[in-house]
Amino acid sequence: MSLEKKVPNLKVFTYERLDWLKRASSLPANENPLETVKDHSFHSSSKLRATPLADVAIDKVAVIELLFPSVFRAVVSLHPAGSIDPDAVAFFSPEEGGSYIHARGFSVYHVFKHITEHAGLALQYFLGVQAETALFSLLLWICSYQTLFTKVCSKCERLLAMDRQSALLLPSVNRPYRQFSTSNISSSLNLTETYHVGCFTEER
Ligand SMILES: [Zn+2]
Repeated sequence: MSLEKKVPNLKVFTYERLDWLKRASSLPANENPLETVKDHSFHSSSKLRATPLADVAIDKVAVIELLFPSVFRAVVSLHPAGSIDPDAVAFFSPEEGGSYIHARGFSVYHVFKHITEHAGLALQYFLGVQAETALFSLLLWICSYQTLFTKVCSKCERLLAMDRQSALLLPSVNRPYRQFSTSNISSSLNLTETYHVGCFTEER
């Protein structure tokens, strides 16, 4: 996949559906991320070595994993396997693991739950505009979240804002998907606007 060369820090893996379930279950389940960071990073690296990841034949790919280490993990499912038709997408913390880590699952963290809900709308939008390019648009749009914890909101220019629904401070979790351009990858990633839930006004 050429995306990996154009987007620094991105790791892309592809799986058959059953292989993804094994991978998800082998990820370290993180009950208390702040207390045992060292422990878990040790476990995760040793587990990754124990289950070598080989890219599967292109006609069997059913799950695509996009990993930005220490930012997020996104899981996209393709239906049918081997097609370029995305049918679900979800975002998780890179520290989460377990059988719920799949394209129709939800993170335990509010920030990634919000993004997953927003990504579902983006997926439907990309499919509606042009189904043949929906997968590429979606993958590139997902990459715009690599600045999730570093880019300030395009409206209020703050990094964090109180989310009224959850009463939590959240980064800008909404990135516009209308007018998202795949023609120039680096500029579309750098110019992508970011919004807090309360600062976002894109018409649905
Ligand atoms: Zn804002």
